[in-house]
Amino acid sequence: MRSDPGKMKVVSTWPTLDAVRADALACTRCPLAETRTQVVFGAGDPEAGLMFVGEGPGAEEDRQGIPFVGRAGQLLTKLIEGIGLTRDDVYIANVVKCRPPGNRDPQPGEIESCRPFLEAQVAFVAPRVVVTLGNFATKLLLDTKTGITKLRGQEHAYGDAVLVPTLHPAAVLRGGGVPLAQTRADFVVVKRALARGAPS
Ligand code: URA
Repeated sequence: MRSDPGKMKVVSTWPTLDAVRADALACTRCPLAETRTQVVFGAGDPEAGLMFVGEGPGAEEDRQGIPFVGRAGQLLTKLIEGIGLTRDDVYIANVVKCRPPGNRDPQPGEIESCRPFLEAQVAFVAPRVVVTLGNFATKLLLDTKTGITKLRGQEHAYGDAVLVPTLHPAAVLRGGGVPLAQTRADFVVVKRALARGAPS
């Protein structure tokens, strides 16, 4: 948890981020617990100013227990490095912590079961800027039905933070040049928001 008291707005049933992790690692709240290899809780700096939220682990993440380590993850790593940071400088989490079988979309009940873990992660990390990767994270955190193509690249208020939605790296890999250029532009928005700091 942050030592800066001004940042400590943690509303959580857990005393620490480690306690959240411990509960998540033992979670059986939804059927994904039956098919996962391991829980993919989150990775990076728990005091980061910048936090990424993806959709859910894929096969490689399920194997390694680390978010965004497959092909989409390699692109995310490059995009992070493109704004002068490394993965160690940021915090990375997902909407659901266990792999949906066959990489299917996470179901509403699974998202709701996992939601307290994500909300606690955001509360403890208390980032200045949150980047949602794709529709699932964007719709959940902004509580909207509006799609990512309309929302991407713009700053949205999210508690004390600024939230910038961007395309999911897997969608960028599928889409090629135009989505990649759009995502690079979105990361410039992220870099500017980080440099400026969020309104207090
Ligand atoms: N896609 C995601 O949304 N999250 C991961 O961790 C990996 C791929």
